[in-house]
Amino acid sequence: MSNLQRMGGKSCTYYVRKRCTRTTSPEDSEAVRCTLLEARRQVGARTLDRLDRLKRLADPLDREVARRHVIQKNLDAITRLSCPRYVPQSGRGPLCVHQHLIYCLLLMPACSGRCDHFLLRREHRAAQGGVA
Ligand code: SF4
Ligand code: SF4
Repeated sequence: MSNLQRMGGKSCTYYVRKRCTRTTSPEDSEAVRCTLLEARRQVGARTLDRLDRLKRLADPLDREVARRHVIQKNLDAITRLSCPRYVPQSGRGPLCVHQHLIYCLLLMPACSGRCDHFLLRREHRAAQGGVA
């Protein structure tokens, strides 16, 4: 009968707030992207495209009116976007506490403890006298 327990993965490079951020393929990475961030990015890209097309308007006044309209529509669209699990980071703008780079920690698997892919964090390596 074995009573062995796997060591924790806290000192692993991939460990972030109990989650394993190690992904193995572009498909894996895509699947764990923050959906709100991605939706905002798409709205922003459409807005830039519309603003670009305004350059065709010859009249500067028409161009300015249209520009303001497009920017207002962009703000409205961004405001309507939401994520049911969004929790704002205090004092840090529209960032969500679950966001890690462009990814959502909630979509990542829990760290199962020190595994074959465990990679000691740089600061721990230095503390152990290894090459940093
Ligand atoms: S919970 Fe936060 S990080 Fe996750 S998808 Fe929603 S907004 Fe993005
Ligand atoms: S120890 Fe393994 S499961 Fe845990 S964060 Fe590191 S790579 Fe992921």
